Amino acid sequence: MHNLIILGTGIAGCTAAIYAARANLNPLVISGPEDGGQLTLTTEVENYPGFPEGIQGPELVQLCKKQAERFGAKFETDLVTEFNKIKKGYELTLSSGKKLQTKSLIIATGASARWLGLDSEKLYKGRGVTTCATCDGFFFKGKEVAVIGGGDSAMEEALFLTKFATKVTIIHRKDSFRASKIMQERVLKHEKIKVIWNSVVKEILGDSKKVTGIKLNNVGTNEVFDFNCDGVFLAIGHIPNTKPFAGKLDLDEKGYLKVDKFMHTNLEGIFGAGDVQDTRYRQAITAAGSGCQAAMEVEKYLSEGEN
Ligand code: NDP
Repeated sequence: MHNLIILGTGIAGCTAAIYAARANLNPLVISGPEDGGQLTLTTEVENYPGFPEGIQGPELVQLCKKQAERFGAKFETDLVTEFNKIKKGYELTLSSGKKLQTKSLIIATGASARWLGLDSEKLYKGRGVTTCATCDGFFFKGKEVAVIGGGDSAMEEALFLTKFATKVTIIHRKDSFRASKIMQERVLKHEKIKVIWNSVVKEILGDSKKVTGIKLNNVGTNEVFDFNCDGVFLAIGHIPNTKPFAGKLDLDEKGYLKVDKFMHTNLEGIFGAGDVQDTRYRQAITAAGSGCQAAMEVEKYLSEGEN
């Protein structure tokens, strides 16, 4: 029987692991398919306190993991497919077939990239359609690419892609971005970046081997037109990873884990941290903060149980 299992190795899970390990709880941290979480898919993080020159996202999360290991946290890769209440805690079933028992659980499974839901998008996934500029930008050296979305991720991806592509076009469904002002300014004054406003993607076009363009619909004029490009980068937000918990834990209408201000879910001994429960801030620092809170609440919960 573990004291604490933490699901997720993003910055929320790793911070929870640092605090729990330093409280001698010997946490086991289970990484899902996206080890390190969304920070591993970003480049420069400029707003995490303590790094005046910025830090690379993958490096930041790697350092947090090392810090947790230093205090005795153990990391494993697997995937929770099911969990059930047992007498003194919970039993998790993992995709490897393994079953683990724990007195408490922190769910920090984060969120995964949202897709448009088009058949043509599925067809060209990995052949020009991607959700990760950091991973795939290099393949578009000397090419023209489109970025879909109007948030900070879209701005960040577009700026990153200017290192490789000859031209980057942001396609956004509205006439203004929701991204932070500083990111918008950088994008709008960049000579390699253009914006197509008020337009939605109807279809990804290609020659069956690779992407050749996008069919767009201007939502103002209803004009449908083709736009030529070699790659399409989707940056249209994320979906919380709560599938194994549906029906057992309270989720909101968008599928985010519901927690109270002490990070408790509706089941005792189960806490949430990071983007899986955050519809509002979704920042590295707020994810880390909530991981700390969850671990401190677990410590309190376990010691109250003992007494
Ligand atoms: P957001 O939810 O902020 O933005 C998603 C964007 O995609 C919106 O512009 C939205 O349009 C658009 N969109 C959503 N669904 C569709 C669709 N089906 N078709 C077309 N467009 C769609 O997500 P982000 O990933 O950009 O950011 C998430 C959080 O992470 C935010 O809090 C952001 O500030 C933060 N972040 C911070 C960074 C930084 O500080 N450096 C970097 C990256 C992210 P609409 O505007 O019309 O709703």
